[in-house]
Amino acid sequence: MELSYILNELAEDRDEYFRAMAPPIVQTSNFGFKRVDELRAAFADEYSGWLYSRGLNPTVEILRKKLAALDGAEDCLVFNSGAAAIFAAVLANVKAGDHIVSVRSAYGWAKKMFEVILPRFGITHTYVKGTDIAEFQQATTQATTLYYLESPGSWTYELQDLKAIAVLAKQRSIITICDNSHCSPLYQQPIAMGIDLVLQSATKYISGHSDTIAGVLSGSSAVIERIFNSEYMNIGSGIQPFNAWLLLRGLRTLPLRLEQASQTALKVLTYLKQHERVEEVIYPLDPAFPQFELAQQQMKGAGGLITFVIKAASVDEVERFCESLKHIAMAVSWGGHESLIIPRCAGIPRAAFIAGSREHRMLRLYTGLEAADYLIIDLEQAFAAIRQK
Ligand SMILES: *Cc1c(COP(=O)(O)O)cnc(C)c1O
Repeated sequence: MELSYILNELAEDRDEYFRAMAPPIVQTSNFGFKRVDELRAAFADEYSGWLYSRGLNPTVEILRKKLAALDGAEDCLVFNSGAAAIFAAVLANVKAGDHIVSVRSAYGWAKKMFEVILPRFGITHTYVKGTDIAEFQQATTQATTLYYLESPGSWTYELQDLKAIAVLAKQRSIITICDNSHCSPLYQQPIAMGIDLVLQSATKYISGHSDTIAGVLSGSSAVIERIFNSEYMNIGSGIQPFNAWLLLRGLRTLPLRLEQASQTALKVLTYLKQHERVEEVIYPLDPAFPQFELAQQQMKGAGGLITFVIKAASVDEVERFCESLKHIAMAVSWGGHESLIIPRCAGIPRAAFIAGSREHRMLRLYTGLEAADYLIIDLEQAFAAIRQK
């Protein structure tokens, strides 16, 4: 299916709603029936029609069809957050006694699930760096039922060889789940590489305007229907119609935004690489990246996230750099219109900062839709501000 068709037309039945170009926000909790028979049929199978918006909703249906097509999947579910998509995907595929192999660089709340919630139900896990397929082979036990992947990973962007891992998993009937938030379906297609379930935080590039939280989970029709009828309905964290509409609007400009953020990232990367206060720059599509070849094979682009290690003698210097930025905002998340930065040292107590630690001096920058030079000038004056003290 053509990308332009998916984003601009697919699932939009305009004759149904006054031939409006923008789809309607069907902001309703419930749907009415004239006949008991029809109500009975809807009770018997909530997946078959309109009954109650915790299940199916017409605005969300338009979005689902587009997002599944983007992932190259048979079907998908849209959640009220990426975290809810992770929770449902994992919960739907484990039972007491099972073992999960997960990448260590997985999103923090996925790890909280593995470390805090699942052990209460007798489900164990092993973390691997994940850059070498042998690590998965070694960590797999008789009880392993799930490989949890995120490629590129958070902060330092470790990749997993998705095709090779999918082959290994299939040999052992292990389910694979991949968090694809970093690339979005435009830059990476895990399902085409053999991964069973792909998820993403739609809060990031799909929304693109820093105004909604959402998550997507895609896979085969059979698995998605099974998850709908249990975890999706039970957790009750399906996306609300208005938020679904915001994502539909975000989709219209997704390719442009992703392309712009990626091009700006490359310019800012070139600037950072030559800067005397920068020790290291990490970006999957930079030739210096340790897995550059694999990145080129399985990713079409790397988006706007860049991690760099600043040369700093103290936590004060890192903090002064961040606080001196005039346009790049200090905030979590990414994928929106605005450029953002987070210092890694914000995640540790101030007194625990070790100047010799590469990790403590890491900064994660997201380049948004501002002009590259505008961001470079901002970075330059912040570097100058460290020196001035
Ligand atoms: C943000 C993020 C999530 C969580 O998504 P929410 O929409 O914030 O719940 C999951 N994975 C990755 C890689 C993320 O960046």
